[in-house]
Amino acid sequence: MDGRGRFFYLASWAGMALGLLLQVRRFPPQGPEVFLYALLLLWALWAMRKGPKSAPRLLLHPLGAYLLFEMWRVGEAWPLAGFFAPALYLLAGFAYPPWSLGSLLGALWGGVLVLDPVVWGRGLDFWPHFAVSQAILLSLTFLLARFRELHGQIRFWREQALTDPLTGLPNRRALEMAIEREAARVDRGEKPFSLVLLDLDHFKRVNDTQGHQEGDRLLKEVAQLLIAHVRQGDLVGRWGGEEFAILLPRAEEGEAMRVAERLRAELSRLGVSGSFGVAVYRGDVKEVFQRADSALYLAKRRGRNRVERAP
Ligand code: GH3
Ligand code: MG
Ligand code: MG
Repeated sequence: MDGRGRFFYLASWAGMALGLLLQVRRFPPQGPEVFLYALLLLWALWAMRKGPKSAPRLLLHPLGAYLLFEMWRVGEAWPLAGFFAPALYLLAGFAYPPWSLGSLLGALWGGVLVLDPVVWGRGLDFWPHFAVSQAILLSLTFLLARFRELHGQIRFWREQALTDPLTGLPNRRALEMAIEREAARVDRGEKPFSLVLLDLDHFKRVNDTQGHQEGDRLLKEVAQLLIAHVRQGDLVGRWGGEEFAILLPRAEEGEAMRVAERLRAELSRLGVSGSFGVAVYRGDVKEVFQRADSALYLAKRRGRNRVERAP
């Protein structure tokens, strides 16, 4: 959950606690009602412990039952429930996708609460007002649920667009975006970053002798190995076919060379070798790519399975 989501989540708990407090002060529970209140409190604490993902689901029905109990208890003061009933819709909106059984059950609770004064035949002056407001709330809830669903889809597709399907690594576009971000940080005065490009040696041979499937498997293993041997905060991505790039924030050339050297040594454990080009950012994003690439080319020319730095 992001900062804003967390704020609203905590605000809804605070709102509920405050609402209950006001209700208890205005209509102090008597006898067995105290027991019911304690039960609701324990349930709410339990739901809170379960976290924001499950709490709305866990609270929907207990809160519906509580509101019904409250309306029965306070008698003529029932319109007050109008302030509490929205909680049911909002919970259903947060907990279930639109038009699912869960969100319809939220509507059912709202309906029960609306019809309740008719059945008990009291406070009918308020009834139309209350009924209309519940219909509006219901519509808002479906909008909310739909919005959440779309938000989830957007996140899913954005992740797809930035992930390489074979290795699960960030793809070239994701790397380029990360490098732009990192460059902006350096331009604001932070330590420079380094870029390491890796091209596996004679990878065509692997495909030719062991088959394309084996080549794919090996690429996945290389990806895992690279991730396992960089620091947290470093970014490993698939640059292209059998080429990988590693972005090392706050790493000078010397450190980047050491990282590349370590990765080169680790690669041999998979029975492959790779050539590495290292370049440190000097204020031009395009240039850092070109320099890392020419260092890589140099490593190839000088016999492969080695690390070279950009001039
Ligand atoms: P060099 O040492 O000069 O880099 O030799 P190389 O064979 O690695 O270089 P080249 O660029 O000629 O060939 C790269 C090969 O990588 C060609 C292609 O078959 C293989 N390759 C690229 N992407 C994939 C992939 O997704 N899966 C598999 N299995 N192979 C791939
Ligand atoms: Mg290549
Ligand atoms: Mg290659």
